[in-house]
Amino acid sequence: MSHRLLIIGSGPAAHTAAIYAARAELKPVLFEGFMAGGIAAGGQLTTTTDVENYPGFPEGIMGPDMMDRFRAQSERFGTTIHTETVNEIDLSSRPFRFKADAQEGSADSVIIATGATAKRLEIPGANDGELWQKGISACAVCDGALPAFRNQPLAVIGGGDSAVEEASFLTKYGSTVYLVHRRDELRASKIMQQRALDNPKIEILWSHVVTQAKGADFLEAVRVKDLKTDEERDIPVAGLFFAIGHTPNTSFLKGQIDTDDQDYIVTKPDSTQTNIPGVFAAGDVQDKKWRQAITAAGSGCMAALEAEQFLAGHG
Ligand code: FAD
Ligand code: NDP
Repeated sequence: MSHRLLIIGSGPAAHTAAIYAARAELKPVLFEGFMAGGIAAGGQLTTTTDVENYPGFPEGIMGPDMMDRFRAQSERFGTTIHTETVNEIDLSSRPFRFKADAQEGSADSVIIATGATAKRLEIPGANDGELWQKGISACAVCDGALPAFRNQPLAVIGGGDSAVEEASFLTKYGSTVYLVHRRDELRASKIMQQRALDNPKIEILWSHVVTQAKGADFLEAVRVKDLKTDEERDIPVAGLFFAIGHTPNTSFLKGQIDTDDQDYIVTKPDSTQTNIPGVFAAGDVQDKKWRQAITAAGSGCMAALEAEQFLAGHG
């Protein structure tokens, strides 16, 4: 089938784009994915509990509930939604041809909003059904303010800008924040490194790894190993945050679009336009810095408006 606008993804970026595009009568068709990138339709927020920083919800809202509302609003204005993953797309000529799980088609313009997947470590005790989301998270900005973490020792794994930023952020809430890094040198930029070194509440465990997460119903301690001496010990912590990077969901594009060295789609400054006219990218798939629902939604809005302008100029 031939469409004017194809939207790939189902997080805040995709649905905001769909709401704007549907109201502009572009009759968008949205492929929300079926466990694409290991995430259920609805995106990363389906993997969390309370979302407390999205404006308009003063009491907070559960992540899955919020994404149900996004989806309902897309449908209300006429977006056609398919619970299928787009596995292939040919961006070499317009209309762009694509293949999803059970159907194929073409589109005059495309918004890619396939998000990113936070990397997790498969440490004993930290997996689904164990202590994941029970004191263990991959997003300090999202979960750090939870009451369970107030005035408690916390730990962050990683040595990049995210890890340092998250550790600094968590010092607002925790008593001590252990930054557990596998090497004796941080990867973070110099200014961020200095920020961590100057913060009296951050204690860096150089050349350490976490080997186990411990606790009955909620995280109580992590076992850490000093890679230089092989010594292991338990550190009591109420929170453990992975900050070891994200993987953008771009593999299905098979190198047809400009990406950076970490496979994030490159968009033009102040725009969601990619290097291919008619193809736009919104949300975490093109944003490795802010990574928030509100910023993803904002760029989804931009993508829809830019797609509308593009389609108006191309018949
Ligand atoms: P995503 O939410 O990443 O969704 C993309 C969707 O596209 C996924 O469902 C994926 O399966 C689908 N997809 C991927 N590939 C394909 C394909 N080929 N075809 C079809 N579909 C595909 N932010 C906040 O602002 N507040 C919070 O409290 C908060 N809490 C968080 C808690 C956790 C545990 C995590 C991991 C993140 C949290 N975030 C929070 C960050 C927020 O979830 C993300 O910034 C936001 O969801 C990004 O939205 P997105 O639209 O770019 O894509
Ligand atoms: P990075 O890839 O830069 O860093 C990931 C960190 O996690 C590294 O220190 C890495 O260790 C560590 N790590 C990776 N895998 C493992 C593992 N299996 N076990 C233990 N540690 C592991 O990711 P970031 O998310 O920090 O940053 C991504 C990009 O976003 C960067 O370009 C960054 O500059 C940018 N960014 C910028 C910010 C800002 O400017 N304020 C804020 C946040 C991100 P090692 O160093 O040994 O490889």
